[in-house]
Amino acid sequence: MRINVRDILAESVGYSRAYKISGERPHLEGLELTQDIEGEITISRLDTGLLIRGRINTVIQLECHRCLSTFDHPISLNFSQLFATDPSDDELRFDDETVDLAPLMEQEITLALPIKILCRPDCEGIKEAAGKYTNEQTDRRLQNQARITKGTQIRGRT
Ligand SMILES: [Zn+2]
Repeated sequence: MRINVRDILAESVGYSRAYKISGERPHLEGLELTQDIEGEITISRLDTGLLIRGRINTVIQLECHRCLSTFDHPISLNFSQLFATDPSDDELRFDDETVDLAPLMEQEITLALPIKILCRPDCEGIKEAAGKYTNEQTDRRLQNQARITKGTQIRGRT
């Protein structure tokens, strides 16, 4: 999933070019795509490197934390990422000629995943009660269900 950026780097700072992403299905570490990545990105020339912004859509396969079945999870996200030849912590690396979008896709899709992965909100899975109440903490619910406050209390972690 590489883009040649030599001609962008030859332009002056502030130059931007748009690209359409279509039919891309890169190998992403720990993620199984079940649909191609589609979307649009804009690459801008900065004095320190490149800024890549855009949005993508795809579908990945997830495994339900509760019942362990696999299911398709649509992903739609916007991103903005700096690239540098000598990157700092929040930048990704590119060489003089190409940018590899796969690590960026990997990073953004991973960040977009829900913390609790469920095939459906009311999945009864293995043991329904424990997860259900920690997920839905409306005030009324906490008042009515005394045992919940006991189970979800997290103190002394500041
Ligand atoms: Zn499930």
